[in-house]
Parts: sequence; structure tokens; C-alpha cells
Amino acid sequence: DTIGENLARTAARFADRTAVVECASGRRLRYAEFDAAVDGLSRGLVALGLQAGDRAGIWAPNGIDWMLVQYATARVGVILVTINPAYRSHELGYVLAQSGVAVLFSAVTHKGSDYRAMVDEVAGDCPDLKHVVYLGESSWDEVVAAGQAVPIEIVRGIAAGLDPDDPINIQYTSGTTGFPKGATLTHHNILNNGYFVGELCHYTERDVVCVPVPFYHCFGMVMGNLASTTHGACLVIPAPGFDPADTLRAVQQERCTSLYGVPTMFIAELSLPDFADYDLSSLRTGIMAGSPCPTEVMKRVVADMGMTEVTICYGMTETSPVSTQTRIGDTLEQQTGTVGRVHPHVQVKVIDPATGRIVPRGTTGELCTRAYSVMRGYWQQPDKTAEVLVNGWMHTGDLAVMDAEGYLSIVGRSKDMVIRGGENVYPREVEEFLYQHADIEDVQVVGVPDERYGEELLAAIRVRAGSQLSEQDVRDFCRGRLAHFKVPRYVQFVDEYPMTVTGKVQKYRIRDAAVQRLG
Ligand code: ATP
Ligand code: MG
Repeated sequence: DTIGENLARTAARFADRTAVVECASGRRLRYAEFDAAVDGLSRGLVALGLQAGDRAGIWAPNGIDWMLVQYATARVGVILVTINPAYRSHELGYVLAQSGVAVLFSAVTHKGSDYRAMVDEVAGDCPDLKHVVYLGESSWDEVVAAGQAVPIEIVRGIAAGLDPDDPINIQYTSGTTGFPKGATLTHHNILNNGYFVGELCHYTERDVVCVPVPFYHCFGMVMGNLASTTHGACLVIPAPGFDPADTLRAVQQERCTSLYGVPTMFIAELSLPDFADYDLSSLRTGIMAGSPCPTEVMKRVVADMGMTEVTICYGMTETSPVSTQTRIGDTLEQQTGTVGRVHPHVQVKVIDPATGRIVPRGTTGELCTRAYSVMRGYWQQPDKTAEVLVNGWMHTGDLAVMDAEGYLSIVGRSKDMVIRGGENVYPREVEEFLYQHADIEDVQVVGVPDERYGEELLAAIRVRAGSQLSEQDVRDFCRGRLAHFKVPRYVQFVDEYPMTVTGKVQKYRIRDAAVQRLG
């Protein structure tokens, strides 16, 4: 199937069921209406002169229109470039020019920023850019109106000629470790990955899936949108710009059965002072993913949010994204303490990066993935592609351990590993330990350069409201329970962390700031 065909199939089966709910506006569409709106916009794209293989961009927060653009471009084979709404003119200009976007769908404003002004600023430097369509404005209506002159048979003809192995999406990576790269993904890559994610969450048309994670990223558009539409489930979009109270209100109002988030989002929801007042009894499953999922937080999601069938996914943009997932029915330990087992039709191996050989179970090494889900490459960056894709194997840059049952644990990113006095320290392990302290709400451990030991550990801690925790308390808590070289030399109390818009903590920026401060 292509993405367009798959949506048509779902719409035929579940025509009268709700496909999507947009909380901010109250707008809701049934599958038949959603599919018809996708047809209408695809005709508009054809009227604009877009052809299969051309690029269209979307630069806007989550909403129904965003999804219409996603499915309408897919239906006529136009490659969608999904652009982070937190980007500013500099990054926008880079992405538009690098991927050769011909038509940009843009928000007008979002969170007080004037998107139109930023588009105007860079448009002159983007020779391929021919049209800008603003969401919720007359330019959108004009595209749809122009499409009425394009017979639907033309769209059907284009759709029938598409190859599921053609690229359909360019997604830039989160930028957690540096400048984002554009992963080129096909229908086959992301449609199947979304389908299997839905299978492992046991989705049916009765599920209602709350997706507060951004659509521009594969967590939203594949694990959220595609997992739902391949199963006839209903997708609920909380007001854009993550707000924990808003998200729980959406769950309560729409009786959601599934909730997504990166760990920081679940932490924020669980920490709401009025958390106990929300009725979350409809929740069954959900997904935590994107960065290390602390066991303590997972346990609270199971116990306090009632998400007894919650899963953890591990993956990366370059692999569509999911490669491993916990399974419903796992033991609590597997469910909360690992990233699960390999996904259907995916191969993984854990290797010694120095020799390329597979390491024994229980030993840390670099995780590599080979599967239908691996990207074509980074868009027009063959050198960068060759660094990570070798003989079909995606070298993830993540350090992992596989146990005897095949369950994987992510130990950290190879870039984040700290070498203190010749000892390898995985920040993740120290973080997991510190999460057990009742006063610690959130903690990030990084390595900072040190003359004597090469590197020293720094713990940047967010404490719970009212806590009097001191640096010495933290070291005392560790002493005798952690090897001396894992006890953070520096403790810093912070109110927030530098983050990507996907909610991932940018450790390199914590490290850079600490280096500046420590001189
Ligand atoms: P960039 O590549 O631009 O630095 P990024 O790697 O964060 O950014 P993504 O593709 O969004 O961009 O994220 C993939 C990475 O997120 C993985 O390589 C891994 O390090 C981390 N990750 C994803 N899921 C998990 C998980 N469940 N546990 C631990 N880490 C995870
Ligand atoms: Mg990455």
C-alpha cells in the first residue's frame, strides 16, 4: 500500500467513526469526511502544479490541517518536508533551500511569533519556493477552490501510479546532539512502522489516542497519526504547545485510551498539583519514548495514570522511527526497565564499535539496525549517510545491552558517555540512581572536562517544590551506594533544561554552559 491507499481503505471500513479531534477548536472529522478533505486538498496540490517527487513543506504546530497536508501530499506522491515550528528564519531558510521545497504550508503565527514575516525574510533565498499557503487563511481556501477544477480521476490516476518504495517524507532529526539532518523516508518505511506500532499497542477502531508530541517529528506523524489511521482509531490533538494540564483535560474529555509523551511530558503531568483531580480511568496503553525513560517515572505511569499496558519504544528518525518496543504482557520489570524487544521484521545487533563484532549478551556495545524501516539516506548528504549506513546496517550511535531474552536496555549515547579517570560512566545509570531520591524531580548527568581525571560528572538537578536539598545531601546520598567514580563531583540546581521542541534535553548545551561557568 501507499499511505494514500491505506487511508482510503480505512475510510471505507470505518466511514462513520471519528478520525480526529482538534481540542483547541473543537473541530472533529469522521473518517469519510477526513478522506474527502484529503482528496480536496490533493486536487489543490495538482492545481498548484505539484508532481510526484516534488517537495512541499509544512511549518506549523499540530492540528487537523497539518494532517490533511500529510495525507494529501502522500496521496499524490509529493514529498513532505516536516519542519520544526521552533525553527526561526535561519533554520527555515536552510531547510527550504536544502530540500528544494516548492510549496510551503505555514502557520501565520504561533506562540506570539510572526511566521509570515520569517517566511518573507527567507523566501528570496529559496529559488525553488513558488507558493506559500497559510493555514487557516484565504490562501488555503484558494488552493482547495482551484482544486475543484481538477477531476478526482486525475488524483486517482496519479495515486495508482505511485511506488510505495518512493520517498514521501523528509524528516529532520531532533538536533539533540548537533545540527539536524534530513532523513529521507518512503511510504513503505513509515506506513509499515506506524502499522506495527499500532499492532503492538493492540489498537482497534475503539481506541482514542492522545498525541501531544509534535507532528513534525516521527513520534507524532508515524507513531501517532499513521498508527491510528492504519487501525481506524481516533486521534486527539491537544492545543499546540505542550501543556500538561491541557493534555490531561483532553484525555478526560475525550475518554482517551492511549497517551503519548517523552519522559519530560509524563513527569510534568504527574507533577501537576491537581493531578489526582483528573479522571484518567479511560487510559489503557500509550507510549513513552524519545529519550531515556526512567524506571521510576514508568512505574508511576502504570500505577498512578492507570496505563497498565503502556509501552516504551526505542528508535530514531533514520529508522522510521521504531526498532524496539516493550510488549503488552511483559513483566513490570521488562515494561518499565527496558526498551523492549525487536519489532516485527527488524533485525538488531549489538557490536563492539572498534571491531564491528557482535558482543555477548549482557555486554554493552553499539546498537545497529537493519530493516524495511531504514531510511534511504540523508537528503543530498551522501557523505553523512555513508558514515552511519554500512551494508544496510544503521549504526545508531546508541549504546545498548541485550539480555538473554532479547530485551534491550539503552545505556546512553556514545557521545554522552563519560570517561572519568579511565572508567566508563554511563550518565543514565547515575540518573536512575538519583531518581530514587524523594526530593529529586528530574536529573541530568553530564561529563565536564577535568585536568586530573579527564572528565568529571556534573548532576543538574530539578528538585521538588519546597525541597531544601543541598549539594552535600546529594553526595551523601550517593556515597557508599555508588562506586566513588560515579558520584557527581559537581551538583547544580536548575529550574529547567535546554530542550529541543520534541522535549529532549540537549545535554551538550548543559555541558557547554557548565564548562563556561566552571571556567
Ligand atoms: P540528532 O540526531 O539530531 O542529534 P536525535 O538523535 O535526538 O537528534 P531523533 O531521531 O529524534 O533525533 O532521536 C533518536 C535518538 O533518541 C536515539 O538515537 C536515542 O539516542 C534516543 N532515544 C529514542 N528513544 C529512546 C528510548 N526509549 N530510550 C533511550 N533513548 C532513546
Ligand atoms: Mg540522532
